[in-house]
Amino acid sequence: MENVINNLPKLAKDKHNENKKFFAKLKKKPPKNLDYVMQELHDNEFEKTDCLKCANCCKTTGPLFTDKDVDRIAKHFRMKTQQFITQYLRVDEDDDYVLQSVPCTFLGADNYCSIYDVRPKACREFPHTNRKKFQQISNLTLKNVAICPAAFNIVEAMKQQIK
Ligand code: SF4
Ligand code: SF4
Repeated sequence: MENVINNLPKLAKDKHNENKKFFAKLKKKPPKNLDYVMQELHDNEFEKTDCLKCANCCKTTGPLFTDKDVDRIAKHFRMKTQQFITQYLRVDEDDDYVLQSVPCTFLGADNYCSIYDVRPKACREFPHTNRKKFQQISNLTLKNVAICPAAFNIVEAMKQQIK
């Protein structure tokens, strides 16, 4: 897996223009069954992907935290919301709460998430490849294929399936 992760930025860069064209076309005329196709591609990929051998998302990017996420996780630690924010978060250029640093503080050396049951919504949904109306998040996906080997494979499979 380490090799795959190390090679991913270069692979994604090589595919970037092709992917950009593909998503531009997809946005203009998404197939009627796109939600169904994406769910199937997502499920197939994650049947063979072991995120515990990877954790590259947690190591390199980290999620944004919604107000609900902050309240839920602070409560989990029995901390006041403001205390949790001060200790772990910062506000980024888009005015969102994000981690102060990556790899994520809550990631263990064994790649387990220590707050798995209460983790942010963005972590639960990453890499968003089963998101409805997937064509609407193409810019995000173009970035995620350089981080997430599963997202990379899903986009490659999409290009084969949707002509
Ligand atoms: S979601 Fe993607 S980047 Fe994150 S651990 Fe799983 S395969 Fe790796
Ligand atoms: S909260 Fe958990 S799932 Fe989310 S980035 Fe941190 S370690 Fe990963």
